[in-house]
Amino acid sequence: MENLQSLKEKILLVCKILDRQGLLDGFGHVTTRISEDRILSTPKMPPGKVSMRDFIILSMKGEKLEGSGEPNGEVPMHTSIYKARPDVKCILHYHPDELIALSVVGQGVKVVANCGAFFYRGTPIFDSSALIRSEALGDQLARTLGDRNAVLLRGHGATVVADDLDELLRLGITLVKTARIQIMASALGTLKTHSEAEAKAVVDVESGERGRRRFLDYYISETLG
Ligand SMILES: [Zn+2]
Repeated sequence: MENLQSLKEKILLVCKILDRQGLLDGFGHVTTRISEDRILSTPKMPPGKVSMRDFIILSMKGEKLEGSGEPNGEVPMHTSIYKARPDVKCILHYHPDELIALSVVGQGVKVVANCGAFFYRGTPIFDSSALIRSEALGDQLARTLGDRNAVLLRGHGATVVADDLDELLRLGITLVKTARIQIMASALGTLKTHSEAEAKAVVDVESGERGRRRFLDYYISETLG
């Protein structure tokens, strides 16, 4: 497990890049698992404005263990997913317009472009606009997510999971980019989506460290100059 300082720096970068790309507003949160029973989290504040001193540490029950900030109201979303998915190391929750638009017409994000290949197993829709403020709702959301890497919350936003923060950032960006293309293409005609084999072929290429580094370096330099 990486040290706390480096995990905080990585979460800050994720938040700053997503904010610069216009994918965050005053709400949303990013967390990462730092041990079996502890979670590092952005506090209740605009995620793009978080600084190193603002982070909080939560237990798997959602109680605050360290830090001065307040926990987000939707902490049960994170604790339920971490409990249900031992493979998940970090979680992003945000509210991009494109993802909300697809959720309200009952369309998951489809693989309409290579950038969406990582979502070939589908993005289920949690059919409730409720904020995930209880363990019962958190568990329902985790069940809807299943073994996928993203779930849309109807009329609310989306939650993305990954096993590392670099990958979380890439998924967070490409999910919205794919949704945008899907919405544009739907206005022009019938969608022709990637077959599972086509999507997996892209995933194979893009999963390599070189492809991931090139993707991330672009957004890092766009944000930090
Ligand atoms: Zn939310």
